[in-house]
Amino acid sequence: TPTINNICCVGAGYVGGPTCAVIANKNPHIDVTVVDLSQARIDAWNSSHLPIYEPGLQDVVELPRDGSDVRRPNLFFSTDVRGAIARADLIFISVNTPTKTVGVGAGRASDIAYVEAAARQIAEVSTTDKIIVEKSTVPCGTAQSLRGIFEAIADPSVHFEVLSNPEFLAEGTAINDLLSPDRILIGSETTDEALRAACALADLYAAWIPRERIVTVNIWSSELAKLAANCLLAQRISSINSLSALCEATGANVDEISYAVGLDVRIGSKFLKASIGFGGSCFKKDVLNLVYMAETLHLPEVARYWKSVVDINDWQKDRFTGRIVSALNNTLADKKIAVLGLAYKRNTGDTRESPAIGCISQLIAENANVALYDPKVTNTQILRDLTLENGHESVNRHVTYCEDPYTACENAAALVILTEWDEFKTDKLLHVPPLNLGRTHILAPEPEPVAERASTASSVASSQSETASNDEVPQPNEDAGTPLTSVAGSPEPDFAEN
Ligand code: NAD
Repeated sequence: TPTINNICCVGAGYVGGPTCAVIANKNPHIDVTVVDLSQARIDAWNSSHLPIYEPGLQDVVELPRDGSDVRRPNLFFSTDVRGAIARADLIFISVNTPTKTVGVGAGRASDIAYVEAAARQIAEVSTTDKIIVEKSTVPCGTAQSLRGIFEAIADPSVHFEVLSNPEFLAEGTAINDLLSPDRILIGSETTDEALRAACALADLYAAWIPRERIVTVNIWSSELAKLAANCLLAQRISSINSLSALCEATGANVDEISYAVGLDVRIGSKFLKASIGFGGSCFKKDVLNLVYMAETLHLPEVARYWKSVVDINDWQKDRFTGRIVSALNNTLADKKIAVLGLAYKRNTGDTRESPAIGCISQLIAENANVALYDPKVTNTQILRDLTLENGHESVNRHVTYCEDPYTACENAAALVILTEWDEFKTDKLLHVPPLNLGRTHILAPEPEPVAERASTASSVASSQSETASNDEVPQPNEDAGTPLTSVAGSPEPDFAEN
């Protein structure tokens, strides 16, 4: 088995940063360098204001010593991509793989341009053998393309072994997911060299993860398993959301449906909370990636089946905003609407694909005055997201960012809760004196109706969102079963991501 003394991770994002911080933490004898093209991102990783919010992240990156925090001595963040690649025995490729916006497969296929650029750079710089690990979520077959790149442009005396090791962490619970994952998946070829490389990677994880949870499979299975996992998780969310519409039409209660069907061990309780729909950078793009793969493999029925998961999600988002409008006499002109929660789920500051963005944009289009608050999403971040969709002038005219939820809610005609932050459901907010809330409508789910009836229900309800495992995408919340005109209690959506 090759000895690993030095690791490089290309891409210091939501996956590369936390994953390598945990690997460095658990393998103190190995130097781990996370590199990125973005100077700002690297500067933030090297500061006390990390670029992403993730519970427990600071403790993994820093080493408490004499009361003051000091960086781990074997974890580095740098923009010296070439230097870190040259020194490494093992390289994680953890760059972004967004949906293509132009060209063949635009709107569905994953763009692996960043993966390819990283591979080219590795091929150009390497003078010693490397184990290359695909950490990014990629279309099935990418490992083969990477091999082609190394064969075409690298020094022929250097050996590259390509492995697949997809990441299943969910934002908001990333550190817990990394510390005790359900499984580590490693895909490789079956040559002796490939199996030895897979063994070296497995050893890194075995520093803290029981061997039986480290699963080795063929490389195509590994690439496809990651997509399959996200598709199945997204499908559950769309399934319960489609049932929420049936509940509204019949008088059934979607929380009761979730509880009742979730007790069936074949179904299970996680990811069954109705909401405004999933968000996050992964679910939609990964489902669309699978749709595109099915299309190119001439499997149109398969493509249609999975595409409907995304279609229901879009429909659910529109349906929610439509109900806000109809609850307020079909006009929002000059009405103040308080929006609490902008992140795509709780415990993250990430707004990528957050349903909040589309919802607020529709409120702006209705000429509402929108007052926003989120505990972790910054003013700059949300204004950037909204400006991209609506233009500077419109955002300036219609949107105010508030530093606390009470200011956002003051004299609002409606209160729209879009992220299931604990502070919105447990704390003071819903006990604000009636004076402040006045005739405000709170657009959120009923407070756990099932819990009122079944003594075991409240723990079941909370475990849905807390243990919703890896890769969930969040569902900014809403219980579509609650009449929007009622004043209701805490939302408890089942958010998560990828
Ligand atoms: P991200 O956008 O947060 O981070 C990617 C980083 O890679 C960026 O900082 C970018 O500047 C950098 N980068 C791009 N090309 C580079 C290059 N050639 N050299 C150096 N740096 C480069 O993305 P992310 O959320 O961390 O996701 C990364 C991958 O992991 C994606 O494929 C995603 O699908 C997958 N994934 C994400 C999650 C999640 O929860 N975000 C979970 C599991 C898997």
